[in-house]
Amino acid sequence: MGRQAKAVLYRELNKPVVVETIQVESPKRGEVTVKIGACGVCHSDLSATNGTNPQPPPMVLGHEAAGTICELGEGVTDLAIGDTVVVSWVPSCGKCRYCVMGRPALCDVSARATTTLPDGTSRLKDSKGNTLNHFAGTGVMAEYATLHRDSVIKTDPSIGMDKAAIVGCAVMTGVGAALNTAKVEPGSSCVVFGAGGIGLNAIQGCALAGANQIIAIDTSDKKLEFARAFGATDTINPATDGDAVAKVMALTAGGADYSFECIGLGATIQQAYGCIRKGGTAVVVGVAKIGEMVNLMAFMMPFTEKVLVGSMYGSARPSIDFPRLLGLYKSGRLKLDELVTATYKVDQAPQAFADMVAGVNARGVIVF
Ligand SMILES: [Zn+2]
Ligand SMILES: [Zn+2]
Repeated sequence: MGRQAKAVLYRELNKPVVVETIQVESPKRGEVTVKIGACGVCHSDLSATNGTNPQPPPMVLGHEAAGTICELGEGVTDLAIGDTVVVSWVPSCGKCRYCVMGRPALCDVSARATTTLPDGTSRLKDSKGNTLNHFAGTGVMAEYATLHRDSVIKTDPSIGMDKAAIVGCAVMTGVGAALNTAKVEPGSSCVVFGAGGIGLNAIQGCALAGANQIIAIDTSDKKLEFARAFGATDTINPATDGDAVAKVMALTAGGADYSFECIGLGATIQQAYGCIRKGGTAVVVGVAKIGEMVNLMAFMMPFTEKVLVGSMYGSARPSIDFPRLLGLYKSGRLKLDELVTATYKVDQAPQAFADMVAGVNARGVIVF
């Protein structure tokens, strides 16, 4: 059995994505099939198609989605057909040392299956019967997706699919970097490098945590405008304002308490480390190209006690964090409506990717 579905595929390096009708197999034991309601278009999807994050084509893209359960595999007893879910691209096993220590975003089992389901096999075939890979272990930029049960989190059905979808990557990653990874303290000063989908959420995460000062840095004035709407108190455009680190030093009287690098470049990671005060924390959220290096002056490291830390998926604990984030949205404290600045039909996927490259949206979402 299985279902036919229109899906967005990565077929060829440095070529636009293509929309095809594919076959989505029925769930095996411990799996579910989700009728996808909406799927966000994320820079990570683009990174697969341009080789920044090398991935094996042919592959169904998408990892930021919400939908409704339409079929249950054997042994899945804690979900029902019709349940609304948000997809997590880290299906934490609950048993490895990282899951047990309360850091499920670092799960060893999910880290091993990034282009398939956790058992190492695919549920996707093209019209000729060739196997397709699952991007980020999910592949949810499609009308239907079969996923491991641990890849879906049951959520409030009253929330619009386009809003719920983006909680599964951009919001979790950005807000989580501030709340979970850095644990930003009220009254603190924060700097965010890059005001794209992740950066805007890091900004609103800092705002939620009660930061006093939030400085957004980007070379696009349009993105800095978005940044102010999400809580940035100051903005720096290095293209016109000059050296970002010197500006931050002046604005914060000697360095920020926290910085968040949401771009993925060695040079900006260096700046993120450089612009914090002694004992401050610099968080690397952006995913850099393989081979990208960071250059830091080793001599000063002991004297400044700065913390440089990575943030994987906003240190997500999806089953706790997704419902919490959606609750914050419902109570009016988390901006999701303002993030979704354009929606697309699945056939418009190539345009959605082009718009992301052009930087016209806070977030573009494909609605099925
Ligand atoms: Zn993403
Ligand atoms: Zn695990």
